[in-house]
Amino acid sequence: MKPAVRMEKIPPYLFLELDRLVERETAQGHDIINLGIGDPDQPTPGWIVEAMKTALDRSANHRYPNYLGSLPFRQAISRMYRTRFGVALDAASETVALIGSKEGIAHMIWAFAGPGDIVLVPDPAYPVYSTQTILSGAEPYLMPLTVDQGFLPNLQAIPNDVRRRATMLWLNYPNNPTGAVAPREFLAEAVAFCRDHDILLCSDAAYAEIGYDGYTAPSVLEIDGAKDVAIEFYSLSKPFNMTGWRIGAAVGNALAVGALGTMKSNIDSGAFTAVQDAAVAALDGNPQAFFGEMNRMYRERRDLAVTALHDMGFQVPLPKSTFYIWFPTPFGLSSAQASRFFVENAQVVVTPGSAYGPQGEGWLRISLTIDTLRLAAGLARMKAAMQSKS
Ligand SMILES: *Cc1c(COP(=O)(O)O)cnc(C)c1O
Repeated sequence: MKPAVRMEKIPPYLFLELDRLVERETAQGHDIINLGIGDPDQPTPGWIVEAMKTALDRSANHRYPNYLGSLPFRQAISRMYRTRFGVALDAASETVALIGSKEGIAHMIWAFAGPGDIVLVPDPAYPVYSTQTILSGAEPYLMPLTVDQGFLPNLQAIPNDVRRRATMLWLNYPNNPTGAVAPREFLAEAVAFCRDHDILLCSDAAYAEIGYDGYTAPSVLEIDGAKDVAIEFYSLSKPFNMTGWRIGAAVGNALAVGALGTMKSNIDSGAFTAVQDAAVAALDGNPQAFFGEMNRMYRERRDLAVTALHDMGFQVPLPKSTFYIWFPTPFGLSSAQASRFFVENAQVVVTPGSAYGPQGEGWLRISLTIDTLRLAAGLARMKAAMQSKS
């Protein structure tokens, strides 16, 4: 008995060695501070939890969900896109509910890429884009994101034969892991590029509601003509501290939304309707005040972390969004060596940048989704470890 050959194509799990190391340190009684996890530490707001409790009592919610999402949920997503981004969406043909955006991202790739096709994927990036491309039998073409280009891919540098075979282009702004944001002009350039080459533009907007210093992320669908070529993946996970609930939506181009819906109806049976009801309450609950508070908290942590890292001598790009800080490794260490160094000498976990692609080599990521005092303690330990090394 053995798993399918395609399973052999899944890249090795890069955190295996790090996990073992952390386990060993924990077994020795060391208190590990984990700055590696991108998962909000705060609870889901009470008004959403209350809506879920009510939704659980509705027996209609106990049956199979609508495959493509409940009409109230799809209408709530449309309303939110109109008020938040000024984008008009037809709920029935231009939105589909997702069991978390990761699910939608994976199935979108299966719906639009296969053997012989190329998928344009940023490097570094959320690993799902390239892993699913490889599993679908298509080929990822990595677009380097470098600090001197503001972590934006150079679309003009993509060779003609690659453009011809490309069926999808993935963008993720605000960006995990770099914390970079995309100016509107870049989004317009990407829309024009995809129109010129008949490529589906996929925008992963997981961090759209996080912003500092007056920054508010746009939707790619705000660009004129975007709906002809673009689909956007919106998730309630990060904005509403709902990562465990598994709810998001894909919106935009009707052909792409339809293909994703067809793929999904043959694989899953939709998100729990009670969760969709709670998501309606989240979206309709005038969440701007809540986002403001959440962003103030993350900004305080960001400033604390960036100041501490500057203090250690790191050059740190100041992120305008996301809850990540992306910075170069110390002492010329590789990403893996540097994260090992911090686990062993500071009992702090930082994510090796190489986990996000070859261009992530030489970088580290810390996440701000940890209690502020623990974050400060972790940074102080990192500083002490660096001082005792140099
Ligand atoms: C967290 C994250 C997601 C997925 O979130 P879901 O919980 O599946 O909605 C998607 N893309 C990026 C870049 C993320 O960091």
